[in-house]
Amino acid sequence: MSAPGGSSGGGGGRLGQRKRHVHDDAKFATRLIHFGGELDETTGAASVQIQQASTFHHFDLNDPPEFDYSRSGNPTRQALEDYITTLEGGTRGFAFASGMAAISTAFMMLSSGDHVICTEDVYGGTYRLLTVILTRMNIETTFVDMTDLDQVKAALKPNTKAVFLETPSNPTLRITDIAAVVGWAKENGLLTMIDNTFMTPYHQRPLELGIDVVLHSATKFLGGHSDVLAGLAVVADKSLGMRMKQLQNGLGNVLGVQDSWLLMRGMKTLKARMDAHEIGARRLAQWLSEHPGVERVYYPGLANHPGRDIHEKQSLGYGAVVSFDVGSGELAKRVMGRVQIPIVAVSLGAVESILSYPPMMSHAAMPREVRLQRGITDGLMRYSVGLEDVEDIIADLEQALGGE
Ligand SMILES: *Cc1c(COP(=O)(O)O)cnc(C)c1O
Repeated sequence: MSAPGGSSGGGGGRLGQRKRHVHDDAKFATRLIHFGGELDETTGAASVQIQQASTFHHFDLNDPPEFDYSRSGNPTRQALEDYITTLEGGTRGFAFASGMAAISTAFMMLSSGDHVICTEDVYGGTYRLLTVILTRMNIETTFVDMTDLDQVKAALKPNTKAVFLETPSNPTLRITDIAAVVGWAKENGLLTMIDNTFMTPYHQRPLELGIDVVLHSATKFLGGHSDVLAGLAVVADKSLGMRMKQLQNGLGNVLGVQDSWLLMRGMKTLKARMDAHEIGARRLAQWLSEHPGVERVYYPGLANHPGRDIHEKQSLGYGAVVSFDVGSGELAKRVMGRVQIPIVAVSLGAVESILSYPPMMSHAAMPREVRLQRGITDGLMRYSVGLEDVEDIIADLEQALGGE
């Protein structure tokens, strides 16, 4: 290395290296902190610089700068993109203005006349994109119960080009066998995409199972503080990376530098937060499953959760989202009116607990019969367990679930 003092170990207090690099085999928790962009290399500042510039001076016309215009590339956004790439084990990552910006950009790899197979309990925004927007571009989708591989296979058409997965799904946490779907998709030359928002790369790394494109709403656990809206995408294949880059630059739906910095700030504590979230979620799920006023609990960490063995094969944790059914809409509304700890809101994955009511929030647009068919009953609530003391969370729900 050509850095000054690079050769001297003893005198002068020089540390012998300017460019630091933590070993690629370092454990997840170490790479989360030492991801390569954690230091500003020019000043040594302990966080990456926010390069608040839209354009960059060409010092030499014949030797253009690495970054020339911030839609095409910006050092702060690049640090974030390299960060998520490392965590997911890919070759190239992309940061977008929201999770939906990331997901819609990935779908722009398709063309008019193509057909998609998608999990039926996909995130509502993705459902809207596929049914209302992409249909106008003559891209058709068949929704299937992806926990049943036969249904996936039966949906194949001559023009099928892609399969879209989400596991565990929202809000009933149904489990899709990623490797089984990918194996079949590869045999048929299909592009595979997955929404990995609920698990994050700490708990689930789909590229290792052969998935082509991993997508995130980084608004949730990755950001973790309900203060930034962002989306991320990661691919392993280099030519797919070039296609995604062309789309990101062409569509221009990039994440700004302030939000890129804020997201990296949040991501550094991902493991610590997820570990704490999960301890709370497991305890809450167990408590709810023993409560007489609760008819059903959905959480992959519960012994009787459908698909739990598949989940354990492909994931390293159970996450922080617990859904439960109190039997009626009236009771659910009473609980939501009484709770003091969680905010009652859409979204999830934050330091504060968030209680959602899918029938009137995320799934309000879904016809009631379809909603009921998918287990999203009038009494169903979704609890994203925050970092409060779980005994307080339980005491709060106990009083909210209690009688008159
Ligand atoms: C929130 C969410 C999205 C959409 O992300 P935005 O950042 O809100 O655009 C996509 N998928 C899942 C699973 C989500 O929870």
